[in-house]
Amino acid sequence: MKAIICKEPNKVTVEEVADPKIEHPGDAIIRLTSSGICESDIHMYQGRTVAKPGKVLGHEPVGVIEEVGSAVTSFKKEDRVVVTFNVACGHCMNCVRGFTSACLTVNPEIVGGAFGYAKWEYILPLGQLWEKGLTIGTGQTPVKKTILMLRDMIIAGIARPSFIVSHRISIEDAPAAYREFSQRADGYTKVVIKF
Ligand SMILES: [Zn+2]
Ligand SMILES: [Zn+2]
Repeated sequence: MKAIICKEPNKVTVEEVADPKIEHPGDAIIRLTSSGICESDIHMYQGRTVAKPGKVLGHEPVGVIEEVGSAVTSFKKEDRVVVTFNVACGHCMNCVRGFTSACLTVNPEIVGGAFGYAKWEYILPLGQLWEKGLTIGTGQTPVKKTILMLRDMIIAGIARPSFIVSHRISIEDAPAAYREFSQRADGYTKVVIKF
């Protein structure tokens, strides 16, 4: 299959990689139909994270299930699915309560598993927050908790998130689209890759 590979800062390529295999009973293999280029990819693209060169990019896919592992009971072949960027186990204390953005098992080093690999270093002016008596709330969105509601709003015509899509491209055009999007080129609000 083809994949978009983060080669070095500010460069992605489209390369042939091995097809995925079921490695764990809870795995599923999805044939992608579309995937978005995300603002979060730009952190990786511009070399600001610990993602190593060679990393396959793309964490906003939708597609059709090709195969599921033996432990998968809630999805089956041919189901159309959207994959959230929170990578989560689904059965730890936080996941069961809906806080899939803070899964305790998927990433042993830190809480949560956005994109499965991203990790940042933070420098916060905590002293200033304390002096001003400010309270802040942070964290990734617990996407799996809200996505069914959003889906139903789209079906009902109440929400139309597709209005932000500015470009629909093929995978061969991804390197140029990553470059344009990372440089905030005029008109690039959201790029969707169609497979
Ligand atoms: Zn994203
Ligand atoms: Zn979990």
